[in-house]
Amino acid sequence: RRYRKTVIAGNWKMNMTATETKKFAEELKKIMPRAKWCDTLICVPACNIQTAAKAFKDLRISVGAENVYFEEKGAYTGEISADMLKDLGVKYVIVGHSERRQYFCETDTTVNKKVHAVLNAGMNPIICVGESLEQRETGITDEWIALQVKSALYGVPADKLRRCIIAYEPIWAIGTGKTATAEQAGEVCTNIRATIRSLYGARVARSVTIQYGGSMNPKNAAELLAQPDIDGGLIGGAALKPDQFVDIINAAN
Ligand code: PEP
Repeated sequence: RRYRKTVIAGNWKMNMTATETKKFAEELKKIMPRAKWCDTLICVPACNIQTAAKAFKDLRISVGAENVYFEEKGAYTGEISADMLKDLGVKYVIVGHSERRQYFCETDTTVNKKVHAVLNAGMNPIICVGESLEQRETGITDEWIALQVKSALYGVPADKLRRCIIAYEPIWAIGTGKTATAEQAGEVCTNIRATIRSLYGARVARSVTIQYGGSMNPKNAAELLAQPDIDGGLIGGAALKPDQFVDIINAAN
């Protein structure tokens, strides 16, 4: 573990207004542990990034974005560039969340372009990969995940890999209350590190933070985080509740 950071990240999805964001930060202030051994961040809707950056500052919680567009600038109505996020103080950007792949036509190609855009702007991509229930039951999880990881990292040089976080999020465990067992999740994360090792060598592979995501909560967090290749969590539902989010941070401490 000393080779890499433990990172606990929230993903608010399309939840929380700016007003609710401020209220959340106030609640969090009352219960946040003084010392944290993990990096902590919350990815918020783009329109609330500035509010969140201000509200979370004293809590030493970084602000992340949930998506980005890969082009630098221009006629892309409604999109937000990496430089725009960076300028607001964003440090992390979720790329390729399964909801974006499912509802917004994200492909391995667009995910790869977004990874490059985030890295080129000096931020850290949180690259989501994960199999469907059908893929798991067919027995192709390992091949599928390896393909997603390789595609996402295509053309990324070794010296930028330390800034990449891979989030393993089995689709069947997201927002369903169904968690992968710690062993199931740990095994896939070990395989992800092996894929990175095959591409970049052992030293680089050792330095990459790999998160688990999918119904992580205060009850199952410690067991999941105890797996040798799980270095943190990407947390949806439980990150909307200050007490649950803090409990998960404490589990990582
Ligand atoms: C997520 O959306 O990244 C996620 C893991 O959600 P949940 O924790 O609600 O399953």
